[in-house]
Amino acid sequence: EDSSTPPPTTGYIDTLKTYFGHSSFRAMQWKIIHTTLNERRDQCVIMATGYGKSLCYQFPPVYAQGTSVVISPLISLMEDQVLALQVANIEACFLGSAQRNTVEVKQGLYNGKYRVCYMTPEFVQIAPEILDELQKRVGITMVAIDEAHCVSQWGHDFRSSYRTLGSLRKRLPEVPFMALTATATPAIQKDICKSLRLKNPLLSCTSFDRPNLYLAVRQKLDIVQDLTSVMVKGERFTHHFDGPTIIYCPTKKATETVCGRLQQMGVKADYYHAGRDNNSRRKVHTMFVRDEIQCIVATVAFGMGIDKPDVRNVIHYGAPKDIESYYQEIGRGGRDGLPSVCTAFYSSADFATNRFFLRDIHNMDFKEHKAKMISEMEQCLLSTGCRRELILSHFENKPKSSVAGTKKCCDNCRRRITQPNSFQDGTSKVDYTKELQHLLKAISITGERYGMQVPVYFLRGSTNQKLLPRYQKDPDFGCGKYRQEKWWKAFARMVLSQGYLREKPVQSGFGSTLELTGTARKWLSDANYGNVTEFKLQPNQEMLSLEK
Ligand code: ADP
Repeated sequence: EDSSTPPPTTGYIDTLKTYFGHSSFRAMQWKIIHTTLNERRDQCVIMATGYGKSLCYQFPPVYAQGTSVVISPLISLMEDQVLALQVANIEACFLGSAQRNTVEVKQGLYNGKYRVCYMTPEFVQIAPEILDELQKRVGITMVAIDEAHCVSQWGHDFRSSYRTLGSLRKRLPEVPFMALTATATPAIQKDICKSLRLKNPLLSCTSFDRPNLYLAVRQKLDIVQDLTSVMVKGERFTHHFDGPTIIYCPTKKATETVCGRLQQMGVKADYYHAGRDNNSRRKVHTMFVRDEIQCIVATVAFGMGIDKPDVRNVIHYGAPKDIESYYQEIGRGGRDGLPSVCTAFYSSADFATNRFFLRDIHNMDFKEHKAKMISEMEQCLLSTGCRRELILSHFENKPKSSVAGTKKCCDNCRRRITQPNSFQDGTSKVDYTKELQHLLKAISITGERYGMQVPVYFLRGSTNQKLLPRYQKDPDFGCGKYRQEKWWKAFARMVLSQGYLREKPVQSGFGSTLELTGTARKWLSDANYGNVTEFKLQPNQEMLSLEK
C-alpha cells in the first residue's frame, strides 16, 4: 500500500514548513494525510508516542482551508494545543460543556474562521447539531478521535462518554473519520473500529519498539536504598538522578512519601497527583519542563500531554497496573531518541493491591479480563526472558526489535551477555519436579477453591483455621515444609506464568482462586501413576534469594 502513495508535492511541503516548521513528513504521517485528503477514507491510526499524531489531523484542514473537528478527553491538553496552534498562526478553538464563550466560538466556526476545533466527547453528545451546521456551511475536512482507546472497555482508560461517538459516523456520511491512539492491542483496535463504526478503515501502525529505552525490573526493598541504586554519586555523599526523572507511584500518598524522602536526600523533587489544585499542578509541571526541579513523583494523573523530550529516567515505584499503562508511562522517557532508563520496582504485595480494586467490578467477563491484565503485568515483571520482546508481543503479532538480545535491551538480556555462565541453557534451569507435584497436589486436594494462601498452608503443614481440619489428615499435609511460605508463593507465580495454573477472579469481593489447567491435570495424573515428566524452570530473583 505504501507504493501507491505518491511523494508529497511542493505545495504540501510549503504548508508544512510555513505553518508547522518541519521540512519533511515522517513516512507514516504522509501516507495518513494523503489518504485523508485525497481518498477521504476512514482510518485507524496507532502511533507510538512521540511519532507525531497531531500533525495527522492538524495538517489536512490547514492545507485544504477547511476545519478539523478533534475530539479528545483532556481539556487541559486541548487548551495547550489551541494555544500552540494560535502561536503558529493557525486559528483554533475549543468547545466544552462548561465553556462561557460558546456563542462567539460558534459564530467564528460557521464563518470558517477556524482550522482546528477541539471538543470534549461530552460536548459532542449534547450538541451534535453544531457538526451538521458546520458541515453545511464550511465543510468538515475530517473528524479526529484522539485517545481512541478510551472507547474500549478492554483498554486501560475506558471513558463512557466515548461510547456515544459511534453515532457520529452516520450523521456525517461524507466526512472521513480518523481514530488515533498510542496504545492498542489487536483486540482493542478491532473494538475501536467497531465502536466508532468506521467504514472500511485503513489501519496504520508504527512499530511499538522504543530502542532507546532500557528496561529493568527490581524488587522493592527500601525507598532510599532502592532509589539510590538508580542514581549517580554527586559531591560529598550526595546522590542525584542522571537527568530529568519521572517516578510513578500507585497512590497519592506514596507520591508524597517518596517525594519527601528525595527532598531529604537533597534531590530537587516535587509531587503531582489529582488531589492537588490546578495551580500547584501547573507549577510543578512548568518547573519540571524548565529543569527547575529534577524529579517529579506522580500518580498516573501525570503524563498525557507532557512535552519534555529529555526525560532520562522513568521509574515505577510499585508495580504498574497493566502492560498498556506501563508501556504508555515508560513512553514518556527519551522522546529525543537518546538512551534512557526505565526501572520498575515491585513487591508481590503490589499485585494484591491491584487485585483488591477488582472488588468493585461486577461484570464477571470484565472482571476476568482485568484480572488477566494484572496477571500479564505480573508475569512480565517476574520474567527472566527478554522484557522487550514480551511487551512487544503484547501489542504486535510479529514483534521485531533492533535491540532485543543486546546489552541495550533490558536487564535480562544484559545479564545473559555479561554473565553467560549463569544463563546457558540447562545450567540456569533448576529441576523443580518435586515442588511442582507438591504444589499441584496441594491445590487439587484443597478443592481448587482458594487463592495461594490456603494451599500454601497445606504445604507448610500449618494449622491455620482457614485450612479445614480434615486436610491435616492427608498424607501429603506438610510435604513442603522445607521451603518458606514466601518461596512457595513466588514459585506458584512462576508456575502460573508457565501455564499450569489459571486464576479465576471470585464473583464477589476481590482476589481469585487458582485452578489447574488441562496441562497441569494431565501432568499430575501421569505423575501420580509414576510417569513423571521433569519440570525445569529458571528461578526468579525472589526464589533464589529465599533458597540461599
Ligand atoms: P504524539 O502525539 O504522537 O506523541 P506529537 O504530535 O506531540 O506526538 O509530536 C511529537 C513531536 O514530534 C513534536 O515535538 C512535534 O513537533 C514533532 N514532529 C511531528 N511531526 C514532525 C515532522 N514531520 N518532522 C519533525 N518533527 C515532527
